[in-house]
This record gives sequence, structure tokens and C-alpha cells, in this order.
Amino acid sequence: MDTKALIIGGGIAGLTLSGLLGKMGLETVIIDNGGLVSAEDVKRSSRTAALMNTSLHVIDAVGLKSYIRTIGTPLKQMRLKDDGNPSLPIKQVDFPANDIGLEQFGYNVPNLALKKMLQDHLKSLKSVTFLSETTLDDYLVKNNKVYALLGHGQTVTADIIIGCDGRKSKVRAGAGIAVKEQDYDQSAITCVISHSKSHDNTSTEHHRSGGPFTIVPMEGNQSAIVWVEKTSETERLLALPKDLFEKTIQKNSHGIVGQIKLESNPESWPLKTLRATKLTAPRVALAAEAAHVMSPIGAQGLNLSLRDIASLAECLIDTARVGGDIGSHATLHAYESRRKLDILTRVEGIDTFNKAVSNNVSLIRILRRAGLTSLDALPPLKQFIMHQGLAPNMDEGRLMRGESL
Ligand SMILES: Cc1cc2nc3c(=O)[nH]c(=O)nc-3n(C[C@H](O)[C@H](O)[C@H](O)COP(=O)(O)OP(=O)(O)OC[C@H]3O[C@@H](n4cnc5c(N)ncnc54)[C@H](O)[C@@H]3O)c2cc1C
Repeated sequence: MDTKALIIGGGIAGLTLSGLLGKMGLETVIIDNGGLVSAEDVKRSSRTAALMNTSLHVIDAVGLKSYIRTIGTPLKQMRLKDDGNPSLPIKQVDFPANDIGLEQFGYNVPNLALKKMLQDHLKSLKSVTFLSETTLDDYLVKNNKVYALLGHGQTVTADIIIGCDGRKSKVRAGAGIAVKEQDYDQSAITCVISHSKSHDNTSTEHHRSGGPFTIVPMEGNQSAIVWVEKTSETERLLALPKDLFEKTIQKNSHGIVGQIKLESNPESWPLKTLRATKLTAPRVALAAEAAHVMSPIGAQGLNLSLRDIASLAECLIDTARVGGDIGSHATLHAYESRRKLDILTRVEGIDTFNKAVSNNVSLIRILRRAGLTSLDALPPLKQFIMHQGLAPNMDEGRLMRGESL
């Protein structure tokens, strides 16, 4: 097979990129080693992603305008609670979207529902070939072409190979790109709960010594839980009988959503921080978790990834429009220049924040509380943080602004 763009990895990031390129008629092959998502998979899954308005613009641009809002729940307020000092009352700071003139910050979207929606949509795009249950085994770059060897012996040639193949990226390894990584021995438990009180479209992040415990609104009186703890503690919690597990969630939630009931099997996800030292190599681009992985604290990971995808799509399409070479040094350099500062500051910022909020050292506990108190007292700083949480002003491409590709 010969194509223009070869995308490895059909997670939300890779699927979105292939949707954007395919919509513009750029010949694209996307391969993923997993199977297609079924309606049953969607029902069973407990993972959601809080996607900010700018990220929704990127998904809209694939050609799925407004559909995403039918599977997600609006996030109208973010609430931080410092819950890590048993001798003091809980300190709370609210960030309402209407303080910065917005109806909502974004939507909380079930990951697999979004993945299925994107997979289904690709079928309508003539210039995209999606190969599921197919693995990239190896590739080489020679004479301005990429030669990729797939698991079942098939070869694909392309002008560029794009690694959206997650934290253990083979594309990254094949290009010899080094990573900086740190393992905190933390995991996140996710599950879906129903509750007797309304969540009022508020996402509440409790900062506790083991890690944050977050309640994120879903449809009706349901919420997704993202609960970070030391990995040994998550293993102990997952081994608890259902009623004891429910009681622990009830206790951690301080009754803010009333009486809770477990609605899905809890799952756990190992956490780490990882940043690729470069985003490009000859004929190679990295995006999303192949380029950066971070703690779910502050719900930044996929939002950052969709900013990579938007920038990369713009760089590739702008080059293709004038008949240029999409895998050229100039195109890759433009992508890397646009993305490196946003990635560096987000990954380092979330890493520092995670260390500060998942800490039981008394000085850090005092500073954490002082930080929240002064944030509350300084509305301009609070508003600045709300804007930066939505999207940094350092890379506002046209897709992020809601304009067309
Ligand atoms: C508990 C938790 C909660 C989170 N909540 C949020 C949130 O609220 N908001 C937010 O913005 N982010 C959140 N994140 C982050 C977000 O979920 C991830 O950033 C995102 O799902 C990663 O998507 P991806 O497409 O980069 O990677 P992946 O989903 O890992 O996709 C990579 C794909 O590549 C495939 N692949 C790998 N190697 C090969 C190969 N050799 N050949 C073929 N295919 C291959 C894999 O099978 C996989 O399908 C959260 C993360 C966690 C752990």
C-alpha cells in the first residue's frame, strides 16, 4: 500500500487526526492493534475525559458537530477542596464558568463512546483506510519515504509516519527519540456511581495525601470517579467487597452528592509522567501520549493531545494545499515549534502540582492550603488560571478557535 500519511495508533488522538486529514481529502492509512469498539464495550467502560471547549472545536471539525454534546455532560463549575489536613476544616475554592463569561468549560465525555463515534465516522471518509487489529512491527526511513512493516507481513509506504501509539510508542523508539520519565508508584481507580443528590454540573477535585479524588458529572444523577492512590493501596481497594468499596467512596465524597451506589466495575490505570525530548525526526512526528503522559489531575492529558492534533493537522494540510511535501523538514519544524512550549509547561506544571497535592509533608500541606486561600482572595489570578486551564494562549491555531481547517 502507498499513502501520504501513515498514522500508528487508533486512540482518540489518532482517530481524530485521521478524521481531520480524511475530511480534507489527504490520503491516510491509520492502523491500530486493538479491535473495533462495540456498544457493549461502551456500556461496560468507566473512563471519561473532561474535554474543554477548545478540544470540542477540534472534534467538531472532524465533521461531528454537536454530536459530541449528545454523549457528554456540560461542566459548568470546577471545585477544588483541600481535604488533606484532618485537624482543619476542608478548604474549598469554586471556579464557575460564568465568572469568565462562559456557559460551560467543556463536556465530560465517555472515552469509548467518543472512540466508537470516531471509528464509525471514518467509514464515511473515502481517503482514509482504517486497519484495526493490525500492529506496526518496524519501519525505516529511506530516500524521503517511510517503509512500514505491519504484523501480518504487509508493507505500507508513506511520506510521513505519525506516532499516536501511546506511552510505549514504537514510532518514538524507532526514531531514537529519548524520553524523560518518572514513575510515582501511583494508579488511578475509575468507576461510575449514581447518587441521590444532583451534581449541579460541578466537577469536584478533593486533594488528599494519597492523591486527588475527583467526582466528574455524567448524565442525570451519575458521576465518574477518578481516584488516585499509591499503587499498593489501589490494589487493596480493588480487592474489597463491593459494599466496603462503596462505603469508602461514600466517606471520601463527604456526602456532597448524597447517597452513592456503584454502577460499574472499578478499573485501575497506572500513572506516570513522560515527555519525549523531541517531537520530530526525519519523516516522523509524535503526538498525544506518544509525546507526553501526565497525571489525570486537572484533566489536562487529552486536551493537550488534541492541541497537538489540531496543530499537526493544520501544518500538514497547509503544506498539502500548496503542493508541498508533508513529511519535509520545514513542515515538521513548524509543528515542533508550535507545540514544544505548551507541552513542556503543561507536563512540568502538572508534575509539580501532583507532587504538591499528593503529599503529606506538613510544610507542603500548609503551603497547599495557603495557595488555595490566596487564589480565592485574588479574582484576577483565579480568572487567569481558568483561562489557562481551558487553553494556553501560546498556541491558538484556527481549529482551537473554532474555525475550519
Ligand atoms: C484515569 C484517567 C483519567 C483521565 N482523565 C482525563 C480527563 O478528564 N481529561 C483529559 O484531557 N485527559 C484525561 N486523561 C488522559 C487521557 O485519557 C489520555 O491522554 C488519552 O486517553 C490518551 O489517548 P491517546 O490516543 O494518546 O493514547 P491511547 O488511547 O493509548 O491510544 C494509543 C493506541 O495505539 C495503539 N498502539 C500502540 N502500539 C501500537 C502498534 N505498535 N501498532 C498498532 N497500534 C498500536 C494502542 O492499542 C492504542 O489503541 C485521563 C487519563 C487517566 C489515566
